[in-house]
Amino acid sequence: MKQKTNIHSLTLEELKNLAIKLGYPSYRGEQIFRELWFSARESFASMKQIQKGFKEYLEEYYSFEIFQSHNILKSSDGSVKFAFTLFSGDVVESVYMPSASNEDEDEGKTSRKTLCISSQAGCGLDCKFCATGTLGLLANLKPSEIAGQVKICEKEIGEKITNVVFMGMGEPMLNYTNVEKSIKILSDTNITKISRKKITVSTSGVTPGIRKLSKLKPAVKLAISLHATTNGVRDKIMPINLKSNISELMNSAQNYYKQTKTAITYEYIPFKELNDSDEDAKRLAKISKRVPSRVNLIPFNDISFTSPVGVAEELKAVSDLELQEFANKIRSFGGVVTIRSTFGRDIAAACGQLALSENKE
Ligand code: SF4
Repeated sequence: MKQKTNIHSLTLEELKNLAIKLGYPSYRGEQIFRELWFSARESFASMKQIQKGFKEYLEEYYSFEIFQSHNILKSSDGSVKFAFTLFSGDVVESVYMPSASNEDEDEGKTSRKTLCISSQAGCGLDCKFCATGTLGLLANLKPSEIAGQVKICEKEIGEKITNVVFMGMGEPMLNYTNVEKSIKILSDTNITKISRKKITVSTSGVTPGIRKLSKLKPAVKLAISLHATTNGVRDKIMPINLKSNISELMNSAQNYYKQTKTAITYEYIPFKELNDSDEDAKRLAKISKRVPSRVNLIPFNDISFTSPVGVAEELKAVSDLELQEFANKIRSFGGVVTIRSTFGRDIAAACGQLALSENKE
């Protein structure tokens, strides 16, 4: 039997077209969209404004439940980690971070409710510092499963999510179509749930995906996981660099800025005695000055629970003091730098940590 499409995978435009196809005015499609994403209905039956006949059609041809189940872990710092079990049995994670950090200086510092969401179960890119990478690629998430993380999180915490970052499990650009659709669902240009300016897509450097994303209007923010300033080091810790090296990546970033006029963020984990030298700081500053952008330094999350081998085993975190000193060095060379706050250390909030244990079970 053909699997039913989940209703949460349909964009506003698709729901309006469906209404028209069934002989209803297009605003009936918009009502369904609002019921799904703004009234957070939990079943077709609970959708109050929809006519009986339309609901019966939806019941027959579409599924409603987004996930099989989900678990929640609350941290003492206010962050919340969600582990969502897909109907395939694979587990993905989201992390809710309620407070302002110093990552986005042009926004208010007190009102942000950020959700870090996943776009794939596992990941095939094998970055050596990442627990998710050790799983390999298990599944591409559907639009309902990507945007649905926001819906379930809002229901559980009783707060509206204001910012979304695609920095959870998976490489968004390798599930591009579904990621773009989920952005359109969360941020339709007619009924905006979350502003595009408050959605960030993070990539490890899949340049064809960056090109595609640059055409999305209005634009979202782009973050690039850089983590090295030379191809020699990046080749070792991020195998994607063998496909698109740093100079190709910089050209893509430059093109993204040209097309969108949106500043770029370079994510960078300084590893002890690998990529944290004065020369690295100088190169980072130079990179970050090509187009308006900033470097976001991220403390390394311990991945010893993955039993790392080879290069991964040799990666060591810098101390908090060394992190600050590295930031100051980049600043001294003229770069703009922020340091990411760490969340949920008491609830295994490192990307992939919870999902890794559940997927392995
Ligand atoms: S860092 Fe991102 S792209 Fe790299 S393996 Fe982890 S999830 Fe995949």
